[in-house]
Amino acid sequence: MEFELIEQFFKPQQVKRQDVALGIGDDCALLTVPADHQLAVSIDTLVAGIHFWENADPVDLGHKALAVNLSDLAAMGATPAWFTLALTLPQPDTAWLTKFCQGLFALARQYQVQLVGGDTTRGPLCITIQVHGFIPRGQAILRSGARPGDLVFVTGCLGDAGLALQLRAAAPPSLQQKLHRPEPRIREGLLLRQLANSAIDISDGLAADLSHILSTSGVGATIQLEQLPLSTALLTHTDRPSAQMLALTAGDDYELCFTLPAEKSLLLEQSGIAATCIGVVEAQPGLRIVNASGEAIILEKAGYQHF
Ligand code: ADP
Ligand code: MG
Repeated sequence: MEFELIEQFFKPQQVKRQDVALGIGDDCALLTVPADHQLAVSIDTLVAGIHFWENADPVDLGHKALAVNLSDLAAMGATPAWFTLALTLPQPDTAWLTKFCQGLFALARQYQVQLVGGDTTRGPLCITIQVHGFIPRGQAILRSGARPGDLVFVTGCLGDAGLALQLRAAAPPSLQQKLHRPEPRIREGLLLRQLANSAIDISDGLAADLSHILSTSGVGATIQLEQLPLSTALLTHTDRPSAQMLALTAGDDYELCFTLPAEKSLLLEQSGIAATCIGVVEAQPGLRIVNASGEAIILEKAGYQHF
């Protein structure tokens, strides 16, 4: 049964990379890392009932399970190469698997990332993906590289996925798209390798994720509430203060937050990356959020907490 599923759903793939000496079918995959590169590895699990609704569209799930992993590669400036998939299914539902693979492999094709192995088991629905990417040795963008004086940027808009999560089926399609079909910022991550001092992807909310950069770098920051990039769709469906709170604390945006020295901001503009400057890194530890009048904003809840 397990072997039939693997043959039917996971072995046939359009992405066939030269650096895969041996893919699905043996006890291990055999993979070749290019000379003078480091392998960037990351893993993420989606659990039914926790990270997604039991009745979620399997096409979306296939996309999202890979997208959230690619987002981690993007945050380090890695080029995606391979992934493995550990799938736990309540029953071998071929209609579900067909759709899941449709979403999964469409994104895999887009980034030329090849499924090279995995594990298939029976149990409560759970999807784990591990991705592997390449970074020229020593060029990864770390969380620990932020320096006082750096400007703080975010890509895209924040809070859309958070409102979609609140409104569920009542959310407009563009917000649902942001929640269910996040686009990993791979292109941006690669360009940022030459520019950014630090980066993280926003999975648990801007305040929480930026705070990881700050504590790891031993610095602080002040960000401007009014500078947070908010989409028209978000502002159409909620008031500005709620939108700003979502942008700060809601997870699932999968945009990049990064810092770079002020003298590189012109290069950033020329790079074509759509990013907004939201604040500045300072020596004094901690994250400070101020409104247009310079008053401090206190957050009750910094972001999504897993436990
Ligand atoms: P083993 O018993 O040696 O762990 P399995 O029977 O679990 O091997 O898997 C057989 C082959 O199929 C292996 O190459 C494994 O990587 C691959 N495989 C199993 N499940 C998946 C999956 N969900 N996606 C991709 N490859 C898979
Ligand atoms: Mg196995």
